[in-house]
Amino acid sequence: MRLKTIDGVDLRNKLVLYRAPYDIEPVTVNGIPTLTDTSRISATLPTLQKLIANNCRIVVLTWIGRPHGQIVDFLRTNLVATELSRQLNLPVKKINDCIGPEVQFAISALKNSEILMLENVRFYKEEEDNDDNFAEQLTTGYDLCVFDAFPQSHRDCASTTGIEKHLPTVAGLYLQSEVEHLKPLLQNPDHPFTLIIGGAKISDKLGVINNLLGVVDNILIGGASANPLLAFSGADIQDSLTETIEKPIWFNSPKVHLPEDYVIENQKILDIGPKTVNGFSSIISQSKTVLWSGPMGLFENPQFAVGTIGVAKAITNSSATSIVGGGDTIAFINKYSSTHNFSFVSLAGGAMLEFLSGKSLPALEPLIIR
Ligand code: ADP
Ligand code: MG
Repeated sequence: MRLKTIDGVDLRNKLVLYRAPYDIEPVTVNGIPTLTDTSRISATLPTLQKLIANNCRIVVLTWIGRPHGQIVDFLRTNLVATELSRQLNLPVKKINDCIGPEVQFAISALKNSEILMLENVRFYKEEEDNDDNFAEQLTTGYDLCVFDAFPQSHRDCASTTGIEKHLPTVAGLYLQSEVEHLKPLLQNPDHPFTLIIGGAKISDKLGVINNLLGVVDNILIGGASANPLLAFSGADIQDSLTETIEKPIWFNSPKVHLPEDYVIENQKILDIGPKTVNGFSSIISQSKTVLWSGPMGLFENPQFAVGTIGVAKAITNSSATSIVGGGDTIAFINKYSSTHNFSFVSLAGGAMLEFLSGKSLPALEPLIIR
């Protein structure tokens, strides 16, 4: 899969609509709205620095949260603009709209290498409706769209597929890096390739397991994701978090490893047990490629983080290429390990799962060279 990238176009002095992946909802800390994980901003710095070096005028477009067409002060892009400015060590102007005369006026005042942050595009209901007239207004006046919103590329919206219809669009370096790290997992990973699945719901990840079944050597399943499968195998999962699924075709596959022991409290399985950690770790240590998504237990309580810590250590101690992703998995890594200990941390959440499920992502399609 080859992408149309910023290396393939003349960027000099262009007015660029930069579609950013800054869907970062603030969290209230001591009464103050705060961005707790700003890694999606850091991830875009190389693209922005390249645009700046080419004297581009840069206008940043993103959505934050799910305001569904309402103006929600808490979800304005101000915090993201401030954090971007801090990380770039450059001023970032912010305006309170993303279309219309205020935007056109602010653009006309922009000088080369200056950056303007637009307001949350989801404040317009036309965004989720993928209204073509709205998409056209979003793209008025620009030379080029640089698209870095890989985490939003599975959505068909005005600010994703809509803007791509109206502007020549190329991938930014962040999007390119996500695709370049994830794509080999589907095609030619180094073997043995071990897939580790955890988290709350196996249903979120069945698409990935089904799609990778032929290419993986081992599938290790822990966390609440294992519970419906443990139930199929006859285990008494008592009051554990579970869901109703059909028995997967791979249930009896020798590639699949379920927990052999677990930590139970109040009739709930809340972590994998030490035997399972040992078994999983031994498989991981012999792997050349590891893909991990989903914690092995209720890690938010340190008492039930032991299994996930064990699995994370096995991955980081191994010589395998390690690709990890998932919002809570990253939260775990930030608390108990470091993203630097892994080969690649995907910041794309649901879009990563869809990509690894083999689905075509609508906003990625126009960026692929056929
Ligand atoms: P990710 O965001 O990394 O894809 P998920 O959203 O699928 O992960 O699941 C993460 C959540 O699953 C965490 O909040 C964790 O506490 C919970 N979880 C994992 N194992 C269990 C369990 N055995 N019982 C209850 N919750 C669990
Ligand atoms: Mg999650």
